[in-house]
Amino acid sequence: MDYKKLAELLFPTIDKTPEDYEAIYPQRDLDEEAKITRFAPSPTGFLHIGGLFAALISERIAHQSGGKFILRIEDTDKKREVDDGVSKIIEGLKSFGIKIDEGFVDFDTEEGAYGPYKQSQRAEIYQCYAKSLVEQGLAYPCFCSEETLAKIREEQEAEKILPGYHGKHAYCRDLSYEQIEANINEGKSYVLRLKSPGSEDKRINFKDGIRGKIELPENIVDVVILKSDGIPTYHFAHVVDDHLMRTTNVIRGDEWISSVPIHIQMFAMLGLKPPKYAHIAPIMKEDDGGKRKISKRKDPEAAVTWYSDEGYPVDGVIEYLLNLANYTFEDFRRANKTAPWTDFKLEMNKMSNSGALFDLVKLNDICKNKIASYTADKVYTLAADWAKQYDEELYTLLTRDEEYSTAMFGFDRNPDKPRKDIGKWSEVRGAFSFMFDELFDGKYDDIANVSKEDICAILDTYADTYEEAPDNNEWFNSLKDVAEKHGFAREVKEYKQNPDAYKGHVGDVSNVIRVAVTGRTKSPDLYSIMKTLGKERVLNRISAYKGAIA
Ligand code: GLU
Repeated sequence: MDYKKLAELLFPTIDKTPEDYEAIYPQRDLDEEAKITRFAPSPTGFLHIGGLFAALISERIAHQSGGKFILRIEDTDKKREVDDGVSKIIEGLKSFGIKIDEGFVDFDTEEGAYGPYKQSQRAEIYQCYAKSLVEQGLAYPCFCSEETLAKIREEQEAEKILPGYHGKHAYCRDLSYEQIEANINEGKSYVLRLKSPGSEDKRINFKDGIRGKIELPENIVDVVILKSDGIPTYHFAHVVDDHLMRTTNVIRGDEWISSVPIHIQMFAMLGLKPPKYAHIAPIMKEDDGGKRKISKRKDPEAAVTWYSDEGYPVDGVIEYLLNLANYTFEDFRRANKTAPWTDFKLEMNKMSNSGALFDLVKLNDICKNKIASYTADKVYTLAADWAKQYDEELYTLLTRDEEYSTAMFGFDRNPDKPRKDIGKWSEVRGAFSFMFDELFDGKYDDIANVSKEDICAILDTYADTYEEAPDNNEWFNSLKDVAEKHGFAREVKEYKQNPDAYKGHVGDVSNVIRVAVTGRTKSPDLYSIMKTLGKERVLNRISAYKGAIA
């Protein structure tokens, strides 16, 4: 068979050769350790948390080695593509601060010298490499219809042999040039298949960056490389793109492990060096005592938009994912309280093989710590940004008086032992409702150990004598005066030494004021709250509480 003639028959318009593309996309001039990684999603729906996880890991591996991170869009499956699929991916990555160097760095901006970065715009490149395989007798057109393929499947099932186009079922493998030409002249559609040199009794070995050594059977199937419309399959596009984009490390979901033999075979047949592979286990969720993958259909937290909607701080979510990737992140954070997460060195070989377990409590915890580490100004800015999009009323209240809101976010924000009451911006409304009359619901916690008469008497005295104190000490002293006046010990210690002599102690009295002012028995520093609310509002709150318990 004259394979060159066959290649011309199949690809008359392709005049470039792989050597031309080698020159267009040369080796990168980078340090030896620098890794080139990519995230290569298909725009088939929202960005999944597992996608963000994979993108983050690829981004870290690239940037911590001085390399580059590419965003490539794999849109060869037009049937599964959704309208705004691409922008959803870019928006998702952008909103979590994943830094992209090449490919789609923004909605309509492609950057980098190795593009185009959308597979649908690279048809000629794939066809050129496919043509070169045909020229060497390593790929061939297959005219088998759907019915024939279904029949092959049935026969293979009955014979209990590996399904797929191989062996005696690979009918089109040995078609003559004349038969092929006649089929084409008849207008028969065809796909292009790889003429797999694999043999059933051979195995391949490769070292996975996460799982270590893996051994799998060699590929023996003549897989499709170009579909009937000339568009490549995922397998072929991956090999061509990751070669020409000079990707050094392919980090992807572990559903692709079983395809590695096909990929390694394709690289070899094209005379190319394969990249290093690392396969990430999916994020798992506990369900009914068992474990299952986080599901797009069942779990709202599968979509990255959920984290933004809930108002989780971006770096809290990222740190949570880093923590899922490497349990050592926690030690790093403990030892480096204020360092940016980019200082952490992610290690792929410390990642789980079986899938890290999603843990909402842990996420909340990390986010609480994260928010506790922010300045009040930062909390104000981020909370207001979130509220602007998700809670208009809160946004209006927060921004009505920036100084007031910032003072509020500053309550108990002391660096040694900061208060940790919010883990996401949607919790601001509930945590601080007492700071806004519009949100204060007039519900009060019960006070167990002070009688109603004493509560009223304390409130009366307090209201009559209340002056804004210049500092916490003086404020507390005046509270002690009120305590003493009503038969409560000035000091907790005094009370403990002689409990029968008192109705209670100053803590009980401050609790009465706390409930009157905030509705709650637990609140941030009461002095700061009262000072920020101002005398008038404090007095109004006291009288409203009296009314409520009367
Ligand atoms: N487009 C493939 C996917 O979305 C990419 C796999 C890969 O990273 O190679 O699963």
